[in-house]
Amino acid sequence: MRHFFSVIANEVVADGPTFEVHDPATGRVHALAHEATPAIVDRAVEAARAALRGPWGRMPATARLTLLRRIADAIDARFDDLVATEVHDTGMLAGFARRVAIPRGAESFRVFADLAQSLMNECFETPTPEGAGALNYTLRRPAGVVAAICPWNLPLLMLTWKVAPALAMGNTVVVKPSEETPGTATLLAELMAQAGLPPGVFNVVHGGGAGSTGAALASHPGVDAITFTGECATGRAIRAAAAPSLNALCCELGGKNPALVFADADLDAAVAGCARSTFANTGQVCLCTERIYVERPLFTRFVAALTRAARALKAGDPFAPDTTLGPVISADQRARVLEYYRQAQLDGAEVLTGGGIPELPEPWRGGSFIEPTLWTGLSTDSRCLQDEVFGPVAHIAPFDGEEEAIALANESRYGLAATVWSRDGARTMRVAASLEVGTVWCNGWLIRDLRAPFAGMKQSGVGREGGRHALEFFSRVRNVCIQL
Ligand code: NAD
Repeated sequence: MRHFFSVIANEVVADGPTFEVHDPATGRVHALAHEATPAIVDRAVEAARAALRGPWGRMPATARLTLLRRIADAIDARFDDLVATEVHDTGMLAGFARRVAIPRGAESFRVFADLAQSLMNECFETPTPEGAGALNYTLRRPAGVVAAICPWNLPLLMLTWKVAPALAMGNTVVVKPSEETPGTATLLAELMAQAGLPPGVFNVVHGGGAGSTGAALASHPGVDAITFTGECATGRAIRAAAAPSLNALCCELGGKNPALVFADADLDAAVAGCARSTFANTGQVCLCTERIYVERPLFTRFVAALTRAARALKAGDPFAPDTTLGPVISADQRARVLEYYRQAQLDGAEVLTGGGIPELPEPWRGGSFIEPTLWTGLSTDSRCLQDEVFGPVAHIAPFDGEEEAIALANESRYGLAATVWSRDGARTMRVAASLEVGTVWCNGWLIRDLRAPFAGMKQSGVGREGGRHALEFFSRVRNVCIQL
C-alpha cells in the first residue's frame, strides 16, 4: 500500500493520523495519506517563513527561474509515475492524463519562468514645482507565504497554475491538495527537492477541509496570501476564514457553463466539440458545458447527433486505450450526481440518454461509474439548470435568434466560461462581447494559453489566474520616488 506523507522543508512527516485514498475506478483503497494536524500546519508555515529569509529569498531571479525549468524537466522524467498516480487517485483516463493533465503541469513551470523573466515594471517622469522633477518607478516583491488550497478534479494541473507563478515571483508555498487526491502533490514535493529547491520553499500538508487541515491553513496568521480552487461554498468559508488577517485571496470557483450553437455552425464540429466539453474527464472540468442552447433550425439534428455521441462512450478501465469515460471521483459524488438525475425527472425532463449506473464487470463494478446523460425539456427554474452538477451531463434547449441565446446563457449565478459555435465571425465576436463569463471559446474548447487571463465572473470567482495576472497576484508592488 502506498503512503502519501505531508512534506515540510523537503522532509517527509511520518506522524499524524492516516486516512484512506480510494481508486474511483474500483472503489478500493489504493493508498493511505497522513493527515497534517494543526501543529503540523504550523510547522509547514514556519518552514515556509524561514525559507523566505534563507537562500531562496536572496536568490537572483534568473537562478530561481532556472530552478523552475528544472522542475518541469523533473516532471517529464517522472511522467509515467505521475500519470499512474493521477489516474489511481482521480479515475481520469490515462490518455487524458498523458495528453493534458501531466504535460500541461510541466508546461506551467516553463511558461511562468518565461513570463516572470519579461515582467515589466512601470516608470513615470513626474514634474515638481521647483522644476527638477522626480522619477517614480515600481519594484515587485514576493507576497510572502502563500497557502494553495486545491481541488481533486485536475490535481497536479490546478496546483501548478498556483505554485508555478508563486515560485516564479519568489514566494514560498504551503499546498493543501484535496483529501481525495493527495498523490501527485506528494510526488511533486519529491521532484522539487531533487531539482534543488531549498528546504521550506514548497511544502505539502494533507488532510480534509472544514474542521481539518484546510481550515487550519486558511485561517493561519502566518500566511500572507491564499489561492483557492474549488466549490463556491468552500470559497465563501475560506474568504470568511481569511478576513481577520486581511490576506490577499484568489478564488477560482464553479461554473454552469453554456454552449451556444447557431444554425450556421459546422454541425459535426459543434457536436464533437460539445461532446468533448460535456463529457471530458466525466464532466469534472470546471469549464465543462452543462447547458447547451441550439438555434431551432438545427435543434433536432443536433440532439440526435449528440445523443449518439453520448451513447458511444465506453466506460471501464481508465488505463485501457478504448475506454472513453472514467468514473466520477467518489461514491459520494456519484450519489450527488444521481440525485440531480432523479430531480431532473421530477422536474419533467425528457431523458435523451443515460440517467443511471452502467453495468460493468469486476473490478469496475465497485467503481463510481455513472451513465453520460442528456436532458431536454426542463424549465429555467429547475435546480438542474441552476446548480453546477459536476458530472457527465448537460441539458439541451432550443433558442430563436442571437438576443435570446445571450439572455439564456447569462441566466445563471455563475460566470466561468462559454462556447459559441457559428461560422459567422462577426457574430462570434458580438456574442462573446455580451456573455457574462471570464472565458469564451468560439468554435473550440479548452484551448488554454497560460499567458492569457483566467477568471470567473459573478459567483465563479474572485481574482485572476494566468499570465501576468497571476504574477501580479503573487507579488506586492512597491513604488520608489526619486527627487531629481
Ligand atoms: P471543494 O471546494 O470541495 O474542495 C477544494 C479544496 O478545498 C480541497 O482541498 C478541500 O479539502 C478544501 N476545503 C474544503 N472545505 C474547506 C474549508 N472550510 N477550509 C479550507 N479548505 C477547505 O472542491 P472540489 O470538490 O475539490 O472541486 C470541485 C469544484 O472545484 C467544482 O465546483 C469545480 O467547478 C471547481 N473548480 C474550479 C476551477 C476554476 O478554475 N474555476 C477549476 C477546477 C475546479
